[in-house]
Amino acid sequence: GLSAESYRRQHEITVSGDNVPAPFTSFESSGFPAEILREAQNAGFSAPTPIQAQSWPIALQSRDIVAIAKTGSGKTLGYLIPGFIHLKRRRNNSQQGPTVLILSPTRELATQIQDEAVKFSRSSRISCTCLYGGAPKPPQLRELDRGADIVVATPGRLNDILEMRRISLRQVSYLVLDEADRMLDMGFEPQIRTIVKEIPAQRQTLMYTATWPKEVRKIAADLLVNPVQVNIGNIDE
Ligand code: ADP
Ligand code: MG
Repeated sequence: GLSAESYRRQHEITVSGDNVPAPFTSFESSGFPAEILREAQNAGFSAPTPIQAQSWPIALQSRDIVAIAKTGSGKTLGYLIPGFIHLKRRRNNSQQGPTVLILSPTRELATQIQDEAVKFSRSSRISCTCLYGGAPKPPQLRELDRGADIVVATPGRLNDILEMRRISLRQVSYLVLDEADRMLDMGFEPQIRTIVKEIPAQRQTLMYTATWPKEVRKIAADLLVNPVQVNIGNIDE
């Protein structure tokens, strides 16, 4: 097999942080549960994408991570699969609130994340619900009341539901800020900060972004603890 170094060079992966683990260069070497490997096979995926290969082993060590890679590079499964494994280790009561929270900028993206989560976790008894604006609240609240291990939400709608005291984030221990650059461009920083105040500090925080401008660096510095940074290709500011 390829050494970590040559795999990184070949795929333009740069990392910074202490003792960054070697990438998973194949699905077989990932050690993922059989049902997840089966779904990857069903989807026709032959190998991890570079961002997946490098961010999976870091996320599985329960470390904070900043992952910078362009659109279409497979970032969603980069955080979803370690999220499923996190859930298996925790086994919280989903009636008391989600364990995994994924913040996403738009309804469309949030829905896509939920679809991918449902597809990859269908044989794992993991429940997932989606909260977004531009749609009535009652059906979303009913879904939420049935219990969800994973909540995928846009910051605005989640903030509204928090204000209504219809969700508790006290059990969240795996927080994903997906498309962080877009969320900030859309003006969601105040809502994100309000939401994070409701989540215990004892958590793992993962930030996925296509670009790395100073606003994103600032919020990463405030919300992540000693993150490992993974970058694919040129840093595009
Ligand atoms: P990003 O969030 O980086 O824009 P996505 O997570 O939306 O990218 O993934 C882009 C597409 O690549 C999706 O259709 C997804 O199903 C597919 N994909 C994800 N992982 C792999 C893989 N390992 N091999 C092939 N295709 C993949
Ligand atoms: Mg994405």
